[in-house]
Parts: sequence; structure tokens; C-alpha cells
Amino acid sequence: MTDPAAEAYRRFRDELLQHGLLISMGVDGLFGRSGTFERVVDGLNAAIAAVGDVDRPEVMRFPPGIGRLQLEKSGYLRNFPHLAGTVASFSGSDDDHRTLLDSLSKGADWSATQRQTGVALTPAACYGVYPVIASRGRLREEGALVDVYTWCFRHEPSIDPARMQMFRQREHVRIGSEDQIASFRETWMERARSLVDSLGLPLTIEVASDPFFGRAGRLLANSQRERSLKFELLVPIVPEAPRTACVSFNDHRDLFGRAWAIEARGGDTAHTACVGFGVERLTLALFRHHGYVPGDWPVSVRNVLGL
Ligand code: ZN
Repeated sequence: MTDPAAEAYRRFRDELLQHGLLISMGVDGLFGRSGTFERVVDGLNAAIAAVGDVDRPEVMRFPPGIGRLQLEKSGYLRNFPHLAGTVASFSGSDDDHRTLLDSLSKGADWSATQRQTGVALTPAACYGVYPVIASRGRLREEGALVDVYTWCFRHEPSIDPARMQMFRQREHVRIGSEDQIASFRETWMERARSLVDSLGLPLTIEVASDPFFGRAGRLLANSQRERSLKFELLVPIVPEAPRTACVSFNDHRDLFGRAWAIEARGGDTAHTACVGFGVERLTLALFRHHGYVPGDWPVSVRNVLGL
């Protein structure tokens, strides 16, 4: 029996490829993007900036990698070992090189010739921010607010075009006291709701949990839900499948504050939160709901995106 969700994902992906919006790279979840796709992404980023710039966030842009030590210290490998990616490279002798070429010519596994480098792939845009803030010493009274936009990697190959292995997140990250975190999250839930609504997309905001690994992970996910630490803004993209999380609102409590020894005013451990916009997912939702030609989209939607 065929799975109706899988069929629907495949159909949507094939339509995006046929319209040239996504470009196949021969690996599930890895795509090129067309100029049209990127104009929508740019429009979304401008629309997010139009909402968030009033807070005068500090802007940080990072490459799609973080230090491997940063990944280790963040706790990511404890909670999401299945999604993490690290960069390996060849660092052997001439003999090792011959072994590598020999394996390649036989179509055999050549990974034994590779060693971990000091670089890991960024799992979420905000991971680059915490060590930078920590390195500056104790926070000032107003805390810190950062606008960050980065390519992220998650190892979850899928035929669902909205579940890419490499994608971009536009985040605002708040670091400070519990009160500052609470009002940040409330503000952004309202802002995100009205932004996505102005794009003519049906949405709901619901309590959610992260995809923690393994049996212990289920307990973590339950506790995260019970404490309402994560909310997601969901948009139906493929009707036969569960709705897609396009924006997430995360209260990390003092998890990163402890990991990086970030001190809030008065010496308490800082709390952190982030709001993350999945720009590819929102772009896909726009194509799904308004059609494959942005010129045909409702004027109100095009105005928001500057298209
Ligand atoms: Zn984040």
C-alpha cells in the first residue's frame, strides 16, 4: 500500500523541480534554488527585518559551520546525535592517498581515510551566537539581542521538500533575564502570527517539542511540552501530511547560559530564547498556497514581500 503523505510529498517536490524553483542535486533534501525562489526568500528576509529592526538587534552573520568544540559544548550531541553533521577531511600520507584512490576505483567505502576536522555543520542559527556573547563578559542591564541568519544542516534525508538537509534560518536571539525572555517570546509570537497572516497563509501556533534522540529523548520532549518551552507556527503545505513548522519560538531556560557561563546582571546565569523563521519552508508554503508564479500572487502578499 502506498503512503498518501509520501506520494503527496513526491508530487509537490516534482512540481517544484518541473517549475525550476528547486534544482535537483541527486540527494534527498539537498537542492539548488532558482532566482525566483531566491527573490521570495529575499522578500521574506526584508519583511522579517521590517518587523524586527525596530528593536535594533545586533546583526551577526556566520558561515554554515561552527567549531566542533562549540557543538560539543552546546549539548547538541547529547540530545540530537542523529541530526548532527561534522566535517571530515583527508590528512594522511602518500600511502593513505593510494588507499583512498584504490577504494574509490573499486567503488568501496573510502571514509576510513577521512578524519574529523575542527569544523562542524551549524545545526541551528543561534548556536554561533552564545559563545560570542559569553566572550564579552557579564551582560549589561538590557541583555543582548541578536539578528542572525545562517545555513543550517540536519541529517534527515527526506522526500518532503520542506524537510531539507541544508536550509536557512533567520533568527532573533534574546539573552538576558527571565522577564526579558518572556516578553521577547510573547512579542515575537504576535509579530510572527501577523506577518505570516499577511502572507495569506493559514496558520496555527501550538506547543511543540524538539526531536530529541532515543528513549531518554521522549522524556525530554514530554517535559518540554509540559513546561511550554517550545511553540511552533504551523502551516499546512501538503494537505495529506502533518502541518509544517515554519517558525519556532524556543525558551531554552538557562541551558545555553550554563553551557557558556553567560552571566546576567547581578551574576545570575542568563536565560536565552530564540525565534527562528524557516525561510525555505515559508517560501514553499507561499508557492503551495498561491501558485508557482509569484507574479500571479495576491497583490497584498506581493506588497509584503516587495515582489
Ligand atoms: Zn535558535
